[in-house]
Amino acid sequence: MPSAFSHAAAGLGIGACFCGPETPASAWALGALCGALPDIDVAGFSFGVRYGSVWGHRGFTHSLVFAAALAGAIVGLGFRQGLPGLPPGWMWLYLFLATIYHSLLDALTDGGMGVALFSPFDNRRFFFPVRPIKVASFGVSWLFTRRGAAVLASELKWVWLPSGILAGIGVVLRALGRT
Ligand SMILES: [Zn+2]
Repeated sequence: MPSAFSHAAAGLGIGACFCGPETPASAWALGALCGALPDIDVAGFSFGVRYGSVWGHRGFTHSLVFAAALAGAIVGLGFRQGLPGLPPGWMWLYLFLATIYHSLLDALTDGGMGVALFSPFDNRRFFFPVRPIKVASFGVSWLFTRRGAAVLASELKWVWLPSGILAGIGVVLRALGRT
């Protein structure tokens, strides 16, 4: 995985395409949360869940179905009216994209197993043919090693920069839409 911070930042990049100035901060926070949440499956390692199983790391929580269900649950349970500047359908799409963007970034990493994008219907793991992002380790101590520096550099280049560009495009498009 890219680190949790980078996943959350990627979620914010998606947020810039959907959230206007009138949208409350909670919407941005939800996007960052959805960007990081699929890696909750890491907890399974402590309970003996195998990496390659449906419930293992990069398994079901990295699937299209999970992203759709998570976005649906958040909107359905807490935001049926949406938020200012963010109708419920758009809010669902925003949170869905913020979640599934996590899996697509994982599929671009150079280590671990691929993502079970089509779980639970097909539990095979997928990577993209090109995998430029150096995979991060769990925890934080590794960040201060030479490997950590290389990982952060690759995340800046392949996650933060594109997310920033995406955010910039989103802001410009929204501004054009209002004129
Ligand atoms: Zn992940």
